[in-house]
Amino acid sequence: RVNDARKESSLSEAAGESVEIRGWVRTRRDSKGGFSFIEVNDGSSMGNLQVVAPAELENYADEIQKLTAGCSLVAVGKLEASPAKGQATEMHATEIRVLGWADPETYPLQKKRHSFEKLREWAHLRTRTNTLGAVMRVRDQISQSIHRFFHENGFYYINTPIITASDCEGAGEMFRVTTLDLERLAKSGGPVNYSHDFFGKPTFLTVSGQLEGETYATSLGRVYTFGPTFRAENSNTSRHLAEFWMVEPEAAFFDLADNMSLAEAFLKRVFSDCLEHCDEDMQFFDSMIEKGKLDQIRGVIEKPFAHMTYTEAIEVLTSCGEKFEYPIQWGTDLQAEHERYLTEKHVGGPLILTDYPSTIKPFYMRVSDDGKTVAAMDVLVPGVGEIIGGSQREERLDVLEGRMAEHELNPDDYWWYVDLRRYGSVPHAGFGLGLERAVQYVTGMANIRDVIPFPRTPGNAEF
Ligand code: ATP
Ligand code: MG
Ligand code: MG
Ligand code: MG
Repeated sequence: RVNDARKESSLSEAAGESVEIRGWVRTRRDSKGGFSFIEVNDGSSMGNLQVVAPAELENYADEIQKLTAGCSLVAVGKLEASPAKGQATEMHATEIRVLGWADPETYPLQKKRHSFEKLREWAHLRTRTNTLGAVMRVRDQISQSIHRFFHENGFYYINTPIITASDCEGAGEMFRVTTLDLERLAKSGGPVNYSHDFFGKPTFLTVSGQLEGETYATSLGRVYTFGPTFRAENSNTSRHLAEFWMVEPEAAFFDLADNMSLAEAFLKRVFSDCLEHCDEDMQFFDSMIEKGKLDQIRGVIEKPFAHMTYTEAIEVLTSCGEKFEYPIQWGTDLQAEHERYLTEKHVGGPLILTDYPSTIKPFYMRVSDDGKTVAAMDVLVPGVGEIIGGSQREERLDVLEGRMAEHELNPDDYWWYVDLRRYGSVPHAGFGLGLERAVQYVTGMANIRDVIPFPRTPGNAEF
């Protein structure tokens, strides 16, 4: 990989080296002196390698002078010091093999810049742009860091089911799984019922792997699940997808304070890995997407996160004089605008909010002594709002059963979950981080649809 070689070796070492690049043409221009300059990108980094093709190459007139954006090729040659500004080396090609042509009449990624919204129409090609390429490399880094962080801290990676019968969050945002044969149903004229579901049982796509994760935490000690998560969010926001990736650690013998420390250490590790390993891409986001991003993230890594209770946050929000679209008072859930006010205007950085009213949080969160709040924690960041939601879990059998009754949950559906409190119950806690929200924060990308390879939102599931 030439781009890697170029990154790792200094100019003097790289120059004179014989290399091969395989990639896609970004631009070509021909000079009067009998050369063509071809910018080639192989996906390994932001930068392109300039390939200098002399007219002596046998396919110069037939092929090289017909190369346009999007064509794929293999070029062989020597790296030489480049006289051009902005690049250390260029390749003097001795051979160029064209692998695939791209008709300039129809190839959408020409010099003209498209909006991110427009680029979504070509989700299969848009990663060939600088921005989407950089986003996907950072996304990969974050996924790698997630695994590394948890392994280094004694967590086992488990896989929780995608098809499940429980609505973990109790928010009713589930997609139902069905074996429905629509054609047969149309013929029979019968109503849709649960006999068409998972072999006769109602099942859904998971909204969270937490409940299943708890069963493993209360045997292996520390575990995390990391996989696709589905929510029937029939809304159009810049931070909600119908299909997203969530990492959910769960640890036995953890209380809320342990959980908060874990979340903070975890995020800082992910952020510093991005600075360290995605330097070039991060510089790009800093200059092209969100000015000052690098300094912002460096600052976040150095300082402890701010903490505040939900009750304190409500006081701030109701006395700050800011006009919000959604009214806010004690007992209502925070909206993105409130979360952003708190992080951007009030603390100027990440904020851990704790102790939410039990009425707006799911049944499994541990009820505090005041009887009104639960041991919940959300981590909010500027630009995005909530990126982590977590809590200490209710480990007391009688209290949990009471909460389930309040939420009108059928105990028969949760008998296995309740068993974890019946037999050797222990305090435990965990949280969920939305991968895409983390990528949004690190890159500064405004819309969550642009940080996942194939976004799933209402009206967007074609491919
Ligand atoms: P929000 O308040 O933004 O709707 P939530 O409180 O419903 O989020 P949780 O149930 O706490 O979300 O899920 C844990 C994490 O999963 C969130 O903090 C967020 O990072 C991520 N997440 C939740 N819903 C979505 C979604 N629809 N698309 C992308 N990420 C999501
Ligand atoms: Mg939600
Ligand atoms: Mg929320
Ligand atoms: Mg939440």
